[in-house]
Amino acid sequence: MKKELQVAALDNGTVIDHIPNNKLFEVVRILHLEKCPESSIIVGFNLDSKKMGHKSLIKVRNHFFTDAELNQLSIVSPNFTLCIIKNYEVVEKKTIELPEVVKNIVKCPNPKCITNNEPMPTLFTTSDQSKGILQCHYCEKEINVEDVKFT
Ligand SMILES: [Zn+2]
Repeated sequence: MKKELQVAALDNGTVIDHIPNNKLFEVVRILHLEKCPESSIIVGFNLDSKKMGHKSLIKVRNHFFTDAELNQLSIVSPNFTLCIIKNYEVVEKKTIELPEVVKNIVKCPNPKCITNNEPMPTLFTTSDQSKGILQCHYCEKEINVEDVKFT
């Protein structure tokens, strides 16, 4: 017997799959899904996953994110599955890479950094793509993406 929890199929749009449950709301926030009023958004939380045990996923109908937007997700996790759906078919699978610029998502770990002392957005640039190193634009402090804290 095959028992599956069905999440409605998407006709056109973007599927972000294999999101760790505890990262779901970071993904919502980073993609600014609350600002996609023209799209229907289906969120699945704590679904069964062969690969992960449990997972979350997000389906956004009739909305296609730019690579720059999707790359911001690499800060949260590098292992998402991103699919572009057209007419119920997967037409493209995307991989995400560290973006060149990360704005106002990651907190600077340096307590003396101006971004921790003034009400201003943080700004990081990727200094080493392969090692996952970000560098603060203001104080030059480096940080590994695995250690980031979110603003
Ligand atoms: Zn800094």
